[in-house]
Amino acid sequence: MSQSVCILGVTGSIGQSTLKILDSHSEEYSVFAVTAHSRIVELAEICKQYRPKIAVVPSHKVDELHQLLIQDGLTEIEILHGEAGLIAVSEHPQVDVVMAAIVGAAGLLPTLAAVKAGKRVLLANKEALVMSGDIMMQAAKDHHAALLPVDSEHNAIFQCLPDGYFQAERNGQPKMGVSRILLTASGGPFLNHTIEQLQNVTPAQACKHPNWSMGQKISVDSATLMNKGLELIEACHLFAISEHFVTVVVHPQSIIHSMVQYVDGSTLAQMGNPDMCTPIAHALAWPKRIQTHVPALDLFANSHLNFQEPDTARFPALKLARQAMKSGGLAPAILNAANEIAVAAFLNNQIGFTQIPQVAEQTLNRMENAVADTIDVILQADQAARAIAQQFIMNKGS
Ligand code: NAD
Ligand code: MG
Repeated sequence: MSQSVCILGVTGSIGQSTLKILDSHSEEYSVFAVTAHSRIVELAEICKQYRPKIAVVPSHKVDELHQLLIQDGLTEIEILHGEAGLIAVSEHPQVDVVMAAIVGAAGLLPTLAAVKAGKRVLLANKEALVMSGDIMMQAAKDHHAALLPVDSEHNAIFQCLPDGYFQAERNGQPKMGVSRILLTASGGPFLNHTIEQLQNVTPAQACKHPNWSMGQKISVDSATLMNKGLELIEACHLFAISEHFVTVVVHPQSIIHSMVQYVDGSTLAQMGNPDMCTPIAHALAWPKRIQTHVPALDLFANSHLNFQEPDTARFPALKLARQAMKSGGLAPAILNAANEIAVAAFLNNQIGFTQIPQVAEQTLNRMENAVADTIDVILQADQAARAIAQQFIMNKGS
């Protein structure tokens, strides 16, 4: 029987790559539900091609989608809306696999709902895990959900860890002979910029990543290295390892997607051409392997692989994220919320590039940290951090 897939954020970069994989494995997988926030015409096209049972949009977009579906005679597709709609498809009894590819905090509740419903959850939406780390991981354990990393680095680490690693005790220590995780970073488009040059970069320049084609928010995060900071936190939760055992390695070619070191002196790396279809296919079919269009790595064409330490003076976001992980509690959720607001303000030309981490740092300094033991507390901190970050942005603009 084919597996039934729900794609949260189907119109995005990860959503599109997911469809590409499903296209070539249509015997094994069918699209049951799709969701989108803004590109409704594209969503209608996807509905026409894949005939899902359910499509989810924001409340104010229901009429637009309804009209488009009627024009195509697709009246049998049910339209749900808002957060309740996203949660309903994520936990739907007929869904086997949920691709969590909404960007930002908006993906938290739907992703958590999928985990609590015991689905196979393909996790692209790192912000959801950054915000709710312990709760999300505990829910995966309690509800026997397979929470599988799609983020290329975490997928690489997952591939390099020993079998049974996830059943071992979750105490922050590396185990089963593992000694350290090496999280690779491309360094983004401004790797060699001076601080002065960084002050003047534009949103268009920040969104032009040298190796990956991605959504705007993660592209800006890659340029500030906040993406690597969020990924550091993501790795600590996924692999139950304290930040002390995770080293960030700048590797501009993005051929090695991350590494795991062992006590016997071995370093295992997962390599491949930079294409998100590889980690998506891996997480979708794990523990099986399925075919993708991604060509095998040509090492003769990629004979220079370089590595360097990240410069946290020019890219302070990485330091902030490490500190937030060390502090624990609500700090990662506060950092994430302030960053989302700051990135939106940068894309809107309200603040400069180097002000993004400043807004995050000021927001973290302003807010009291506390234990993150319920989702309500986390969502309240997220909202409070957004309001404070907004204030800092208004003061900077004036
Ligand atoms: P994107 O901007 O291309 O797509 C985001 C998707 O989320 C769209 O379908 C959009 O409609 C939906 N969305 C946006 N805001 C929403 C809201 N408020 N409510 C509901 N839906 C909303 O982003 P992307 O690059 O595909 O990234 C998606 C997630 O995957 C992010 O968390 C990102 O960090 C992660 N990720 C992306 C890549 C990549 O290569 N693109 C790699 C690793 C991880
Ligand atoms: Mg990544």
